[in-house]
Amino acid sequence: MNGNRVYNFNAGPAALPLEVLEEIKDSFLNYAGSGMSIIEISHRSKWFDDIINDAVARTKQLLKLDDKFKVLFIQGGASMQFCMIPMNFLRDGETADYVNTGTWSTKAIKEAQILGKTINVAASSEDRNFSYIPKEIRFNPDAVFAHITSNNTIKGTQFASFPETNGLPLIGDMSSDIMSRPFDVDKFGLIYAGAQKNIGPAGVCMVIIREDMLKKIPDELPSMLKYTTYADKNSMYNTPPCFAVYTIQLVLKWLQETIGGLDKMDAINRKQAKTLYDAFDSSDFYQGTAEPDSRSLMNVTFRLPDEDLERRFIEEAAENGFGGLKGHRSVGGCRASIYNATTMAAVEALADFMKSFEQKNG
Ligand SMILES: *Cc1c(COP(=O)(O)O)cnc(C)c1O
Repeated sequence: MNGNRVYNFNAGPAALPLEVLEEIKDSFLNYAGSGMSIIEISHRSKWFDDIINDAVARTKQLLKLDDKFKVLFIQGGASMQFCMIPMNFLRDGETADYVNTGTWSTKAIKEAQILGKTINVAASSEDRNFSYIPKEIRFNPDAVFAHITSNNTIKGTQFASFPETNGLPLIGDMSSDIMSRPFDVDKFGLIYAGAQKNIGPAGVCMVIIREDMLKKIPDELPSMLKYTTYADKNSMYNTPPCFAVYTIQLVLKWLQETIGGLDKMDAINRKQAKTLYDAFDSSDFYQGTAEPDSRSLMNVTFRLPDEDLERRFIEEAAENGFGGLKGHRSVGGCRASIYNATTMAAVEALADFMKSFEQKNG
């Protein structure tokens, strides 16, 4: 425990920086002298305009995006992107390449197929229970785009670098690692990320889209399901999720001003992940489930010798102030999600707890 707050290892919604929560608390009843709460002001007000524009500007600064990229905020979570992407970019007779690296990629493929689109699985790690990231992926040059999940939240694997697409626009589901490290955005035609893992609360998905992609979108789609609607109206065609966007703005400000940008964030994230992976590598008691060269810096997945010990581990951890260590219900085991807001103190406390649990039970 850390005061009255647990060490939060939830997978999403997940930990947010304490400084951000305190700032929200301070301005909750009277936002910026408006005499109204942030959840009471109009999305057509100058106050909200400044918030959304600042969130966009900070996203562009942090990711070094030039003017050919637009930053949008869309409701419906990352899961709605699974259908919007094929609706907007795949016409009859066209195909797209998807890399299947786990539960979320599988869902993305399924949603495109529900729409009757032709999907080619360019590579998959299903043969070893999604425990690794496929290497040397060859994309079909006739595909319209290539889709990857940069970090596999449930299986605990992550692309260390992004595959060469030879000019195909890459589309990335970065829900669980956006803003965790710098990367080269130039290959990407579209990036999307449900906010509730690394950049804010639930209720909004950040979408970064390149101009040439916007030009391919047919007119005859429902307004709420086409990216052009959001791009033309600065994400305010209808009422946006104001509170979620406000929180994102504060998290991005924290990333820039308190952490010092994505290079610094990356160094911290690597150090934290190494602390936990070193704990497995020096023990026969804990077994990592991801192959070492594919390990995620965000979601550390592991097993204990049997399920009974896993249950006790999670229980005793909870009694000692560690929250969220149960693996996803579809895979079992344990998972520590160590997103940007997780502190080194929390990670070190967990590594110590793991050691003492092993001493008692190993
Ligand atoms: C959580 C998650 C999703 C689903 O996000 P929702 O916002 O709940 O729809 C999709 N992809 C990845 C990689 C995720 O981690």
